[in-house]
Amino acid sequence: MEKVQNLVVGCGLSGITAARQMAERGENVLVVDAKEHIGGNAYDYYDKNGICVHRYGTHIFHTPLKEVWDYLSRFTSWEPYMHRVEGLVDGQLVPIPFNLDSIERVFPASLARTLSDKLIARFGFNVKVPILKLRQAQDKDLEFLADYIYEKIFLHYTLKQWGLTPEELDPAVTGRVPVYVSRDGRYFQDKYQGIPRRGYTEMMNNMLNHPLISVRLNTPFAQIKDQISWERLFYTGPIDEFFDYKYGELPYRSLRFEFVEYDREYFQSGPVINYPCNYDFTRIGEYKYFLRDQSAKTVVSYEYPQPFRRGENERYYPVVKPENAALYERYLQEAASLPAVHFLGRLGDYKYYDMDKAVQRALLLTNTLKGE
Ligand code: UDP
Repeated sequence: MEKVQNLVVGCGLSGITAARQMAERGENVLVVDAKEHIGGNAYDYYDKNGICVHRYGTHIFHTPLKEVWDYLSRFTSWEPYMHRVEGLVDGQLVPIPFNLDSIERVFPASLARTLSDKLIARFGFNVKVPILKLRQAQDKDLEFLADYIYEKIFLHYTLKQWGLTPEELDPAVTGRVPVYVSRDGRYFQDKYQGIPRRGYTEMMNNMLNHPLISVRLNTPFAQIKDQISWERLFYTGPIDEFFDYKYGELPYRSLRFEFVEYDREYFQSGPVINYPCNYDFTRIGEYKYFLRDQSAKTVVSYEYPQPFRRGENERYYPVVKPENAALYERYLQEAASLPAVHFLGRLGDYKYYDMDKAVQRALLLTNTLKGE
């Protein structure tokens, strides 16, 4: 029987951060992953045109957390980058999150003025208002605006993305992209934002580059679990799978990406264009924008949401709503009986983590293990 101090299942950002932390404490770590590459869904690669393509859809790093930014900055330098998204609404490209400029783009000037003034009077300037909250405004103009934004930005996009309406999900999901009473056209307002200068994969490779870390790809946990003994297990796979689905399956949402190369310099006017009202895909990402890659060609991905089906496609998002949280709690209780097993990551914690929160979670967890 092979022996390791730490076994990390899943070589995504969460598992890699945990691995690095344990190695820096002087312990040996084996990281296994079923996929043929490191990095989980943050994996990217340079294609033949020198464009850095994110294989699992556009990933933009943003965080208010200095400790996370400083930590990752040990392994990469950053291309300063502030994300912008536009959505095609009534034939116009409008800033998303929907903001005061979006209002001007879609309404006649006098109506736009009335609506903007009312928004500012009610909520203040430079304030973010989740759509489900805006819909509760007891004012006929604000209700008109809320209904418009709900219908044109949120309802059909959310139905495509989740197969559910905004009300059927935890409000935090649509609250990620609140209406912004502002002219700030950025997708995120975090203090620290950027793209790893040579891509996420290189950053994560640097994190793994430690004499006490070894990595085995193409290695599902099930294949090795009876051959390796460990003192600690960090499990970033799905918690329901770990327990053999004994309480039932946790629902996830999946995506299918269609990558297309075009023989022209640019395909669209920005890195991500959302299509909340048209087509079956939710958005198109154009990769050369992130690191300003120079090429006469361009690569885009069309993003088609799908239900997750075991064995057919991959888990991308936990479906955040109360009954799923209740099911997850049952697994969490089960996990409490295994003190040497630590669950983390989007799938291990069944949480809709952004990359920075995944890293923060791994840092906090491993810090609490210090001295153990
Ligand atoms: N959303 C929407 N319309 C948009 C953008 C977002 O309805 O144009 C909703 C949708 O439910 C989506 C959620 O807001 O799943 C969160 O969006 P975000 O861009 O944060 O999703 P991610 O990039 O994590 O897929």
